[in-house]
Amino acid sequence: MGVSGLPAARALHGLGAEVTVVNEGADERARAQAGELTALGITVRLGDGATLPDGTELIVTAPGWRPDKPLFLAAAEARVPVWGDVELAWRLRRPGAAPWLAVTGTNGKTTTVRMLASILRAAGLRTEAVGNIGVSLLDAVLGDEEYDVLAVELSSYQLHWAPSLRVHSAAVLNLAPDHLDWHGSMAAYAADKGRVYEGNTVACVYNAADPATEELVRAADVEEGCRAIGFTLGAPGPSQLGVVDGILVDRAFVADRQKQAQELAETADVTPPAPHNIANALAAAALARAYGVAPAAVRDGLRAFRPDPHRIEKVADVAGVAYIDDSKATNTHATEASLAAYDPIVWIAGGLAKGASFDDLVGGAAKRLRGVVLIGAERALIAEALARHAPEVPVVDLDRTDTGAMSAAVREAARLARPGDTVLLAPACASMDMFVNYNKRGEAFADAVRELAAEIG
Ligand code: ADP
Repeated sequence: MGVSGLPAARALHGLGAEVTVVNEGADERARAQAGELTALGITVRLGDGATLPDGTELIVTAPGWRPDKPLFLAAAEARVPVWGDVELAWRLRRPGAAPWLAVTGTNGKTTTVRMLASILRAAGLRTEAVGNIGVSLLDAVLGDEEYDVLAVELSSYQLHWAPSLRVHSAAVLNLAPDHLDWHGSMAAYAADKGRVYEGNTVACVYNAADPATEELVRAADVEEGCRAIGFTLGAPGPSQLGVVDGILVDRAFVADRQKQAQELAETADVTPPAPHNIANALAAAALARAYGVAPAAVRDGLRAFRPDPHRIEKVADVAGVAYIDDSKATNTHATEASLAAYDPIVWIAGGLAKGASFDDLVGGAAKRLRGVVLIGAERALIAEALARHAPEVPVVDLDRTDTGAMSAAVREAARLARPGDTVLLAPACASMDMFVNYNKRGEAFADAVRELAAEIG
């Protein structure tokens, strides 16, 4: 009965299906929601997520449910199909509905999908960034609003449960270990991400710097004539988009890709112009160009784009030290990108590690670390990696998981920092041990920084 479950239940009920909602929790909120659904004529089973209701013909699951749940094992045995919310939305599209341009990857999905929507809008197209963000896919597909094309963010969970999805074009931005506890292995995680390319009709966009993404294109079964399009931070080869002398150029969607390159925008048109974000812009541009958008709209769309909060967001300068909120860096791959953007850094990290290893991250950043402040449940994993790879770097290990710990962390970071340094919240971990979500974690950081600024003046 979460954000994807409730709309799915209502939509299916509205279509005349006989719906049973299965919810593991049975707290007060769940009981109140159950009351509302029951009044509509929907059956609700609280506190039991394991048994398959008798006569079930189809399961529609929320993306968070792990595939090894007993309910799914029972479904497999009974040959009952399982769809996610994305599969449901895909199947419920009306005839002639807007095509989907899809984005997945370990990091940068939301940013890229928003950039893409901004570009499509600049081209005068009716569009929306949907999926894992903002408007739900089901609402976009079933609502009254008419779209020309949709910019769709898809998570690995959603792709796992979307067997018949076949989009116009798709991009896998990058692949690094994440959510391995859910998928079971890196191979299974990659295979689920790779599903986004299955049946693409126009373009499969991959990251030339991340060979695993190109592998996935090769493994995919696509429509005749669908092209593999790479993006690179270097000079682009034929069928690639890339960067030449600070200019984003397209050598894929031009008349003669052996000889021609089309200027799209300047790197300065992208906010922030950090390397990983230029890569996001190139991926968004590739999808827009695959859809036939003109170069000037790519430039205008990128210029109009502003990143969402808590993604490398500058909070304030206090006593010559910059305080940056990258609370959205919830895994090591994202944190690696933001640690690469600053020097020297006082790094605030820790939380729920989701099975990650921190050795490579810490080893790569060791030289740029002025100091580290650790918070959260699984901070010991980071402390151990620091002891192995950066033994000289001072570490303050705050043995706290209460929400007030962030204020203490900022104070410790301020103590370690010297003028010219950057204090960077890029936790490399999920936030749920201490906060409702990464937004709240970022807000706690920003509040603590403002408090500090008020005291120091
Ligand atoms: P997602 O929707 O995939 O979680 P976001 O756009 O919200 O991606 O960004 C998540 C985090 O990843 C942010 O902390 C950001 O700094 C970092 N990030 C964004 N793009 C990339 C990229 N291309 N490579 C590595 N890290 C990135």
